[in-house]
Amino acid sequence: MKLVVANWKMNLTASETRAYTAAFRKGLTALEGVEIVLAPPFTALAAAAAAEGRWSLAGQNCHHRSSGAFTGEISARMLADLGCRYVILGHSERRRDFGESGELLSEKVARAREAGLVPIFCVGESLGEREAGATEEVLERQVADLAADPAGMPLVVAYEPVWAIGTGQRADGGQIRGAHGRLRSLLAVRSDLRILYGGSVTAETSGEILGLPDVDGALVGGASLDPAGFARIARAAIQR
Ligand code: PEP
Repeated sequence: MKLVVANWKMNLTASETRAYTAAFRKGLTALEGVEIVLAPPFTALAAAAAAEGRWSLAGQNCHHRSSGAFTGEISARMLADLGCRYVILGHSERRRDFGESGELLSEKVARAREAGLVPIFCVGESLGEREAGATEEVLERQVADLAADPAGMPLVVAYEPVWAIGTGQRADGGQIRGAHGRLRSLLAVRSDLRILYGGSVTAETSGEILGLPDVDGALVGGASLDPAGFARIARAAIQR
Protein backbone atom coordinates (compact mmCIF):
# COMPACT_ATOMS: atom_id res chain seq x y z
CA MET A 1 0.00 0.00 0.00
CA LYS A 2 1.37 3.42 -0.96
CA LEU A 3 1.85 6.13 1.63
CA VAL A 4 1.06 9.78 0.86
CA VAL A 5 2.09 12.47 3.34
CA ALA A 6 0.87 16.08 3.30
CA ASN A 7 3.49 18.44 4.70
CA TRP A 8 1.64 21.70 5.25
CA LYS A 9 4.74 23.47 6.60
CA MET A 10 3.79 26.79 8.27
CA ASN A 11 0.36 26.98 6.65
CA LEU A 12 -3.24 26.56 7.83
CA THR A 13 -4.61 27.63 11.20
CA ALA A 14 -6.74 25.34 13.37
CA SER A 15 -9.96 26.76 11.90
CA GLU A 16 -8.62 26.47 8.35
CA THR A 17 -7.74 22.86 9.20
CA ARG A 18 -11.37 22.15 10.08
CA ALA A 19 -12.43 23.48 6.67
CA TYR A 20 -9.62 21.52 4.95
CA THR A 21 -10.49 18.20 6.58
CA ALA A 22 -14.18 18.61 5.72
CA ALA A 23 -13.31 19.27 2.06
CA PHE A 24 -10.65 16.55 1.98
CA ARG A 25 -13.05 13.95 3.33
CA LYS A 26 -15.40 14.65 0.38
CA GLY A 27 -12.61 13.82 -2.07
CA LEU A 28 -11.90 10.52 -0.34
CA THR A 29 -14.56 8.18 -1.60
CA ALA A 30 -13.76 4.50 -1.14
CA LEU A 31 -10.17 5.19 -0.28
CA GLU A 32 -9.06 1.78 0.83
CA GLY A 33 -5.64 0.85 -0.44
CA VAL A 34 -3.67 3.98 0.40
CA GLU A 35 -2.23 5.21 3.67
CA ILE A 36 -2.74 8.93 4.19
CA VAL A 37 -0.83 11.08 6.65
CA LEU A 38 -1.42 14.76 7.38
CA ALA A 39 1.41 16.80 8.89
CA PRO A 40 -0.19 20.06 10.02
CA PRO A 41 1.64 22.67 12.07
CA PHE A 42 1.67 21.87 15.81
CA THR A 43 -1.18 24.32 16.49
CA ALA A 44 -3.52 22.49 14.09
CA LEU A 45 -2.76 18.90 15.11
CA ALA A 46 -5.65 18.74 17.58
CA ALA A 47 -8.11 20.04 14.96
CA ALA A 48 -6.88 17.48 12.42
CA ALA A 49 -7.17 14.72 15.04
CA ALA A 50 -10.67 15.79 16.08
CA ALA A 51 -11.86 15.62 12.46
CA GLU A 52 -11.39 11.83 12.66
CA GLY A 53 -10.85 10.96 9.02
CA ARG A 54 -9.11 8.07 7.35
CA TRP A 55 -5.72 9.59 7.94
CA SER A 56 -3.06 9.49 10.59
CA LEU A 57 -1.00 12.41 11.77
CA ALA A 58 2.62 13.44 11.72
CA GLY A 59 4.48 16.20 13.49
CA GLN A 60 6.72 18.28 11.23
CA ASN A 61 9.58 18.23 13.74
CA CYS A 62 10.37 17.45 17.37
CA HIS A 63 13.06 18.43 19.85
CA HIS A 64 16.10 16.22 20.40
CA ARG A 65 15.58 16.05 24.17
CA SER A 66 12.61 14.39 25.82
CA SER A 67 11.62 17.33 28.08
CA GLY A 68 13.06 20.28 29.95
CA ALA A 69 13.85 23.98 29.74
CA PHE A 70 13.56 24.43 25.97
CA THR A 71 11.22 27.37 25.55
CA GLY A 72 9.08 27.18 22.45
CA GLU A 73 9.96 23.59 21.62
CA ILE A 74 7.81 20.46 21.23
CA SER A 75 8.80 16.97 22.33
CA ALA A 76 8.16 13.68 20.56
CA ARG A 77 6.05 12.58 23.54
CA MET A 78 3.80 15.63 23.12
CA LEU A 79 3.22 14.68 19.49
CA ALA A 80 2.42 11.09 20.40
CA ASP A 81 0.02 12.28 23.09
CA LEU A 82 -1.87 14.33 20.46
CA GLY A 83 -2.32 11.19 18.39
CA CYS A 84 0.62 11.46 15.98
CA ARG A 85 1.95 8.25 14.55
CA TYR A 86 4.82 9.78 12.58
CA VAL A 87 7.26 12.68 12.78
CA ILE A 88 9.06 14.29 9.85
CA LEU A 89 12.75 14.68 10.67
CA GLY A 90 15.63 16.16 8.72
CA HIS A 91 13.56 18.14 6.25
CA SER A 92 15.95 20.20 4.12
CA GLU A 93 14.31 23.43 5.29
CA ARG A 94 15.26 22.52 8.86
CA ARG A 95 18.73 21.37 7.89
CA ARG A 96 19.28 24.61 5.96
CA ASP A 97 17.36 27.24 8.00
CA PHE A 98 17.92 25.85 11.48
CA GLY A 99 21.34 24.28 10.99
CA GLU A 100 20.17 20.79 11.96
CA SER A 101 23.16 18.47 11.83
CA GLY A 102 23.28 14.73 11.33
CA GLU A 103 24.25 14.26 14.96
CA LEU A 104 21.24 16.24 16.15
CA LEU A 105 18.96 14.29 13.82
CA SER A 106 20.20 10.98 15.24
CA GLU A 107 19.12 12.22 18.66
CA LYS A 108 15.73 13.26 17.31
CA VAL A 109 15.25 9.82 15.78
CA ALA A 110 16.00 8.25 19.17
CA ARG A 111 13.48 10.55 20.92
CA ALA A 112 10.88 9.70 18.28
CA ARG A 113 11.38 5.97 18.95
CA GLU A 114 11.11 6.43 22.72
CA ALA A 115 7.74 8.10 22.13
CA GLY A 116 6.59 5.34 19.76
CA LEU A 117 6.68 7.56 16.66
CA VAL A 118 7.84 6.41 13.24
CA PRO A 119 10.36 8.83 11.70
CA ILE A 120 9.83 10.10 8.18
CA PHE A 121 13.50 10.83 7.64
CA CYS A 122 14.25 13.25 4.79
CA VAL A 123 17.40 13.07 2.72
CA GLY A 124 18.45 14.63 -0.56
CA GLU A 125 21.18 16.48 -2.37
CA SER A 126 21.40 20.14 -3.33
CA LEU A 127 21.71 21.19 -6.95
CA GLY A 128 25.41 21.90 -6.51
CA GLU A 129 25.95 18.44 -5.05
CA ARG A 130 24.06 16.79 -7.92
CA GLU A 131 26.00 18.76 -10.50
CA ALA A 132 29.25 17.79 -8.80
CA GLY A 133 28.25 14.12 -9.05
CA ALA A 134 28.04 13.85 -5.26
CA THR A 135 24.43 12.67 -4.92
CA GLU A 136 25.28 9.14 -3.79
CA GLU A 137 27.87 10.37 -1.34
CA VAL A 138 25.37 12.81 0.21
CA LEU A 139 22.72 10.12 0.56
CA GLU A 140 25.24 7.78 2.13
CA ARG A 141 26.29 10.42 4.66
CA GLN A 142 22.71 11.33 5.56
CA VAL A 143 21.60 7.72 5.90
CA ALA A 144 24.57 7.05 8.19
CA ASP A 145 22.77 9.15 10.80
CA LEU A 146 20.28 6.28 11.12
CA ALA A 147 23.00 3.81 12.11
CA ALA A 148 21.95 3.66 15.76
CA ASP A 149 18.28 3.19 14.95
CA PRO A 150 17.21 -0.45 15.39
CA ALA A 151 16.99 -2.14 12.00
CA GLY A 152 13.77 -3.96 12.82
CA MET A 153 11.74 -0.81 13.54
CA PRO A 154 9.44 0.61 10.84
CA LEU A 155 11.15 3.44 9.00
CA VAL A 156 10.09 5.85 6.28
CA VAL A 157 12.78 7.64 4.29
CA ALA A 158 11.80 10.50 1.98
CA TYR A 159 14.12 11.19 -0.92
CA GLU A 160 13.72 14.91 -1.46
CA PRO A 161 16.27 16.51 -3.77
CA VAL A 162 16.62 20.03 -2.38
CA TRP A 163 16.50 21.57 -5.86
CA ALA A 164 13.07 20.01 -6.45
CA ILE A 165 11.39 21.26 -3.27
CA GLY A 166 8.92 24.04 -3.93
CA THR A 167 10.51 24.84 -7.29
CA GLY A 168 8.09 23.15 -9.68
CA GLN A 169 11.08 21.24 -11.08
CA ARG A 170 10.64 17.64 -10.01
CA ALA A 171 13.26 14.94 -10.43
CA ASP A 172 12.76 12.74 -13.48
CA GLY A 173 12.09 9.01 -13.38
CA GLY A 174 15.74 8.06 -13.89
CA GLN A 175 16.93 10.36 -11.11
CA ILE A 176 14.27 9.03 -8.73
CA ARG A 177 15.00 5.39 -9.58
CA GLY A 178 18.73 5.94 -9.15
CA ALA A 179 18.40 7.58 -5.75
CA HIS A 180 15.78 5.16 -4.43
CA GLY A 181 17.82 2.17 -5.57
CA ARG A 182 20.88 3.55 -3.82
CA LEU A 183 18.92 4.23 -0.63
CA ARG A 184 17.47 0.74 -0.68
CA SER A 185 20.89 -0.83 -0.89
CA LEU A 186 22.31 1.49 1.79
CA LEU A 187 19.42 0.50 4.05
CA ALA A 188 19.34 -3.18 3.09
CA VAL A 189 19.47 -4.21 6.76
CA ARG A 190 16.11 -2.58 7.45
CA SER A 191 13.26 -5.07 7.59
CA ASP A 192 10.41 -2.50 7.38
CA LEU A 193 11.44 0.31 5.07
CA ARG A 194 9.38 2.55 2.82
CA ILE A 195 10.98 5.12 0.54
CA LEU A 196 8.93 8.13 -0.55
CA TYR A 197 9.73 10.69 -3.21
CA GLY A 198 9.21 14.38 -2.42
CA GLY A 199 9.78 17.51 -4.48
CA SER A 200 7.18 19.37 -6.55
CA VAL A 201 4.74 16.43 -6.69
CA THR A 202 1.39 17.65 -8.02
CA ALA A 203 -1.99 16.09 -8.70
CA GLU A 204 -1.00 16.00 -12.36
CA THR A 205 2.39 14.29 -11.92
CA SER A 206 1.60 12.05 -8.96
CA GLY A 207 0.34 9.10 -11.01
CA GLU A 208 3.55 8.81 -12.97
CA ILE A 209 5.79 9.25 -9.91
CA LEU A 210 3.84 6.82 -7.75
CA GLY A 211 3.95 4.26 -10.56
CA LEU A 212 7.76 4.13 -10.58
CA PRO A 213 9.33 0.94 -9.26
CA ASP A 214 10.87 1.48 -5.83
CA VAL A 215 8.62 4.45 -4.97
CA ASP A 216 6.52 3.55 -1.94
CA GLY A 217 4.71 6.86 -1.80
CA ALA A 218 5.08 10.63 -1.83
CA LEU A 219 5.81 13.47 0.55
CA VAL A 220 3.86 16.43 -0.77
CA GLY A 221 4.34 20.05 0.24
CA GLY A 222 2.67 22.86 -1.74
CA ALA A 223 0.19 20.66 -3.60
CA SER A 224 -1.13 19.19 -0.35
CA LEU A 225 -2.57 22.56 0.71
CA ASP A 226 -5.44 22.08 -1.73
CA PRO A 227 -7.70 19.37 -0.25
CA ALA A 228 -9.17 18.40 -3.63
CA GLY A 229 -5.71 18.18 -5.19
CA PHE A 230 -4.32 16.12 -2.32
CA ALA A 231 -7.33 13.80 -2.53
CA ARG A 232 -6.48 13.34 -6.22
CA ILE A 233 -2.92 12.41 -5.26
CA ALA A 234 -4.26 9.89 -2.73
CA ARG A 235 -6.54 8.40 -5.38
CA ALA A 236 -3.64 8.16 -7.84
CA ALA A 237 -1.74 6.20 -5.18
CA ILE A 238 -4.42 3.51 -5.03
CA GLN A 239 -4.10 2.58 -8.67
CA ARG A 240 -0.34 2.10 -8.40
C1 PEP B 1 8.39 19.22 0.99
O1 PEP B 1 8.56 20.30 1.51
O2 PEP B 1 8.57 18.19 1.64
C2 PEP B 1 7.99 19.20 -0.40
C3 PEP B 1 8.11 18.07 -1.05
O3 PEP B 1 7.52 20.38 -0.94
P1 PEP B 1 6.91 20.59 -2.40
O4 PEP B 1 5.98 19.44 -2.67
O5 PEP B 1 6.19 21.90 -2.32
O6 PEP B 1 8.05 20.62 -3.35
